[in-house]
Amino acid sequence: MSLAHPLPLKAYAVTENDENTGAVYFARHNIVARKAGANEFADGDITYVTCRRAAWADAYAETGRLPARVSIEHGWHFECCGCGMRIDEDSLAEHHLPLNGVIGGQWDPVFCGSRCARKYWSLRRRTKAQEAAAIADFKAIVCTRFPDVEFADDESRYRTHHAHVVPGRGGWHRQQVIVAFNFPGMKIGPAHYRTVDHHQKVGPADAGYTCCNGDREAFEAYAAATKRASQ
Ligand SMILES: [Zn+2]
Repeated sequence: MSLAHPLPLKAYAVTENDENTGAVYFARHNIVARKAGANEFADGDITYVTCRRAAWADAYAETGRLPARVSIEHGWHFECCGCGMRIDEDSLAEHHLPLNGVIGGQWDPVFCGSRCARKYWSLRRRTKAQEAAAIADFKAIVCTRFPDVEFADDESRYRTHHAHVVPGRGGWHRQQVIVAFNFPGMKIGPAHYRTVDHHQKVGPADAGYTCCNGDREAFEAYAAATKRASQ
């Protein structure tokens, strides 16, 4: 007995019918690519997308990573994640940018050249560092008030720590910072120390403690007990 030889992966260009936005999918059957493209670009409605073979991209089936410059050569266009310019063969020529200098792939950020890519990744790195610093600062504040809590570092993402920071004049603004922690007597989920929303406010944000409704009594009891202990 032997296994039937599997069909090779082939490239299919799937585009949404109105906007003509889409992507190249690698699949063994047209319908598989069509469904994937419809899920991404047409709320799952396969009658809203067109699916064509894109043999020019077959060579990338194995890795699944199709470079943007190859797609551009075959008529696709992207938006530069740095400067926002439309990247196609004409606009590149107009800006004297070489096609080979285009960075990125169809599921990754795409850049018109290395200058935009450097700026973007550098900002991303600095943003990540600022987010981490904001979370560390908030944890330190919580530790001062509740020295024996355990931070909920491994909760699923929507319940754990979160920071949103933006560069602004005079430094970084901490628009939202939330740290999550478990406390003795907790039944439902972590309590949070978080910024209070002030949309217009610039400068140090106010922050406060919140917990799940069902944990309110337990958290208040814990807060009262630790207050006595620290006096
Ligand atoms: Zn650019």
